Amino acid sequence: MENTENENSEVMMHNRRFIAWKCESVREGMKPFGRSETAACGFWSVKATKSTNKHLQANCPACKRRARLNINTRKFYEYDTKEAAKMHCEALNEQAGIMEVVQ
Ligand SMILES: [Zn+2]
Repeated sequence: MENTENENSEVMMHNRRFIAWKCESVREGMKPFGRSETAACGFWSVKATKSTNKHLQANCPACKRRARLNINTRKFYEYDTKEAAKMHCEALNEQAGIMEVVQ
């Protein structure tokens, strides 16, 4: 009972979300000539956000490609801690044979 208040305020302070997302080609609307601008590299990385906006933007640290993190077109994962999100990315990058570590 005594701890309830503390726990609540701690939740308030940790409302940041960490998004594990993959650099991949997705259809984000019509392209003039039916092809995408650059190929995606497939690298997983973490994007930290406080926003509840569904239309986040992120830059791939590996190939500098810009991506729209739209829940409707892209698969990504949300975590409460940066560590958890990083672990997700590192595991999947390793699985894909991408050994480069960014950040
Ligand atoms: Zn990339």
